[in-house]
Amino acid sequence: MTQSEVIYLDNNSTTPVDPAVVEAMLPYFASKFGNPSNPAHDYGLEALRAVEHARFQVASLIGGESKEIVFTSGATESNNLAVLGAARGSRGRGNHVITTVIEHRAVLNPCRQLEREGMAVTYLPVDTRGRVSVDDLANAVTQGTVLVSVMAANNEVGTIQPIREIGRVCKERGILFHSDAVQALGKVPLNVEDFGVDLLSISGHKMYGPKGVGALFVRSRDPTVELEPIVHGGGQELGLRSGTVAVPGVVALGAACELAEGHLATESSRLRTLRNRLFELISIAIPAAIVHGPEANGLPGLLNLGFPGIDGDDLINCLKGVAVSQGSSCSARSFEPSYVLRALGIGDELARASIRIGVGRFTTASEVDEAAKRIIAAVQMLQHA
Ligand SMILES: *Cc1c(COP(=O)(O)O)cnc(C)c1O
Repeated sequence: MTQSEVIYLDNNSTTPVDPAVVEAMLPYFASKFGNPSNPAHDYGLEALRAVEHARFQVASLIGGESKEIVFTSGATESNNLAVLGAARGSRGRGNHVITTVIEHRAVLNPCRQLEREGMAVTYLPVDTRGRVSVDDLANAVTQGTVLVSVMAANNEVGTIQPIREIGRVCKERGILFHSDAVQALGKVPLNVEDFGVDLLSISGHKMYGPKGVGALFVRSRDPTVELEPIVHGGGQELGLRSGTVAVPGVVALGAACELAEGHLATESSRLRTLRNRLFELISIAIPAAIVHGPEANGLPGLLNLGFPGIDGDDLINCLKGVAVSQGSSCSARSFEPSYVLRALGIGDELARASIRIGVGRFTTASEVDEAAKRIIAAVQMLQHA
């Protein structure tokens, strides 16, 4: 089977770059190649203007200001800068951080690092749909809590967290609030003012931009967030992220954010429709299929399904015609059942017999129909094996 015959339904793992985004970034490789840190001549100035335009486009999507956007190499770096930077920058005030057990590893592992540095971290549990309780969170706050980090939407099961309510708790207690918004951006409305978010992580390649570029929103007032940088050097990006800005990627991220802002309403309803159609087709043929995460009103486009009684490895082997994920792609090489599914109370065997399907901007209704046929055929074959 050639790659083009395989239907791509793994858009929560990565997305193709939108052709309009490719077009926007191309001139910045060869003809407009200047260094934005050196605007003394027209080459540098042209690059600087492009970077500042992109900064405005990113800020606009989330309701922030241009000066509050720091460009990074991706959301892994944004999450590291937010968690390590905010906790280390608040050392004088306290040494406690609160997060959840289903955060991405790019949040969990920096939290582990903080523990090695002597800080205390509370990992809040989630319910069977993946939701964290705001009461649990408020009860976990201590005198020494300096940072809360809760993702806007989960990458494996699509749970949307009560960000606005968490933002309110943090504001009342004077605690910094970071949210990994990688999966939510472009699919659900998110505004750093309305939601009371102080730090927000963005990734290019989850929203039709390229890999290797991301951003971190860092609130500049009420409160002014003091971050300790993790990369030291020439002092670019307000000293928070040294290194020459990756101009083509940043231009692309800006274009991707502008597209996401324009398409938000239509895109999220289209993704919901496709996801619901896929679920209907599969569940009619396989009534035993179980939805992990929210039944409805989860992240538009994401469907995590478990097939009881089927071997997980066989399932992936029989599903060659559809590109989906088993567990999260970051842990896909280890055959450990997903820690996110485990946290939802799902047993190891069912977790291994589960797939995450992600429809995206370029998925068509006929692809959904064909993918449903292929998934049904694979599962039915294994059920009768
Ligand atoms: C993909 C992902 C990341 C990591 O982003 P990169 O840009 O690939 O480093 C972080 N958090 C979530 C929720 C993700 O889905």
